[in-house]
Amino acid sequence: MAPIRIALVGVGKIARDQHLPAIAGNDDFVLTATVSRQDPQLNVPHFSTLDALLASGLQVDAVALCTPPQVRYDAAMAALDKGLHVFLEKPPGATLAEVDALRGHASKAGVTLFASWHSRYAAGVERARDWLANRQIDKVTIIWREDVRVWHPGQAWIWEPGGLGVFDPGINALSIATHILPRPFFLTDATLTLPENRAAPIAADMSFVDTAGVPISMDLDWRQTGPQSWDIIVETDAGTLSLAKGGAVLTLPDATHVDEDREYPGLYARFAELVQGGTSDVDTRPLQLVADAFLRGHRKATEAFHD
Ligand code: NAP
Repeated sequence: MAPIRIALVGVGKIARDQHLPAIAGNDDFVLTATVSRQDPQLNVPHFSTLDALLASGLQVDAVALCTPPQVRYDAAMAALDKGLHVFLEKPPGATLAEVDALRGHASKAGVTLFASWHSRYAAGVERARDWLANRQIDKVTIIWREDVRVWHPGQAWIWEPGGLGVFDPGINALSIATHILPRPFFLTDATLTLPENRAAPIAADMSFVDTAGVPISMDLDWRQTGPQSWDIIVETDAGTLSLAKGGAVLTLPDATHVDEDREYPGLYARFAELVQGGTSDVDTRPLQLVADAFLRGHRKATEAFHD
């Protein structure tokens, strides 16, 4: 099969750090164009808007949308309308309803829509899911604490409505939890802490329960200096499972497993599989849980945040 000619839209941090190397390392894809307000000089045709690319006549099969979520819907719709396959960075959109509309549109157009969740491809995640499938789960604790100044310096969009604030990393934890835990779970209480000069939370304390009554707590904080925590701890009848470093390091009662980082190579392998199989993969459960936190959570103000 000929390689999928893909255009990268939004050449920011994640596009440079992960998408470009993952595309270069996968023979099923060939980088065919970039769309960015400034020319990233990658030796492929460059366009300053997606509309300019779509009008250019350049043959492209797919786009990877690495822009902020607030501007993703319009780009995705325009690409689907032209019959292109679409890879959405996480979160798949700024609202659930728009993602649903995209799903319907992709289905009608007969093209692939992939709502990617990179953390699900972290090295320990599949093994954790398999191990938990046969256990009685008693309690789940999620601790996701990082320093926003280190990981999101100057990203104004992340603090705007639809940018999700601390849920931008927190949704990665929820993408893992919804994948490895055997039953659906839902929010029972939340407190969102918002800096007085920002529209999105800098911290959140959340309580969930699953359909068998298992409590799940989640502690998100963007003010963490020193060691960073991206941990999920699951207490079971057979001992404690721990996923650390965002899912990369799995510790079971009898061993620790650390494998190669395969997140973005795994995502592109999955996208190729979907395109070749003529199917889509759009799971909105992580975004639904975040939306529920905004719907049901208490809000608390805290001191102003400056980059
Ligand atoms: P970023 O560094 O701010 O890059 C976003 C890019 O989108 C910008 O460089 C810009 O590219 C383009 N863009 C188009 N319209 C824009 C607008 N209205 N405002 C701002 N930028 C606009 O952000 P990022 O960290 O790469 O994140 C992009 C997406 O990837 C987010 O959904 C994020 O959750 C996800 N993600 C990020 C990470 C990470 O570690 N940073 C990890 C996984 C997933 P041009 O200037 O080239 O037009």
